[in-house]
Amino acid sequence: MESACLESLGYCREDVTQVILTHCDFDHAGGIEMFEENGTTGLTFPAATHFIQEKEWQDVEKPHRRAESTYFSENFALLRKKGKLELINGNKEVSSGVMLFYTGGHTRGHQIVEIRSKGSTGVHLGDLLPTHVHNHPLWTMSYDNFPLEVIDRKSELLKKYTDMESWFLLYHDPFVRACRFARDFKVKEKWQAGRLKSFI
Ligand SMILES: [Zn+2]
Repeated sequence: MESACLESLGYCREDVTQVILTHCDFDHAGGIEMFEENGTTGLTFPAATHFIQEKEWQDVEKPHRRAESTYFSENFALLRKKGKLELINGNKEVSSGVMLFYTGGHTRGHQIVEIRSKGSTGVHLGDLLPTHVHNHPLWTMSYDNFPLEVIDRKSELLKKYTDMESWFLLYHDPFVRACRFARDFKVKEKWQAGRLKSFI
């Protein structure tokens, strides 16, 4: 999250105590570290514990040849050194109302995040649902390492969270930050800027 965005909510990057990585591909983990003003590299959120699935970390340490170009070792060096890494095996509640669920699929150690607050639910399916137009279970990406698992997990999770009227939080969508789906998985509501404060 950009620091200006955090500041608009009254926080700075040192206030963040938990960072969740759905998986460790460079386009998701590239923000773990940043250049400080003095030119050295530091953790973007220096006080935060970073939650990663154990299986994902095994692949970071020893990637399959198909995936070795997506796990940049420099993204993870400081996490090891500073002891800010917590490995998870399965599902875990990381703070009140924030659950991690292991899924696999896109990568072997992929996980998703469910957030419950003030009677509403948001879910981030990571790269199981990169954009709102991936709402059909059979529409997968060539980047998926285990596409049949993506299809199975996405089918279950789209139904589960649509039945709960959850917000689906999207990472790769250039047009829609979050949305809710109707029972046929067509978009029925898109997120409007400025709504976040009513949920926290
Ligand atoms: Zn991605």
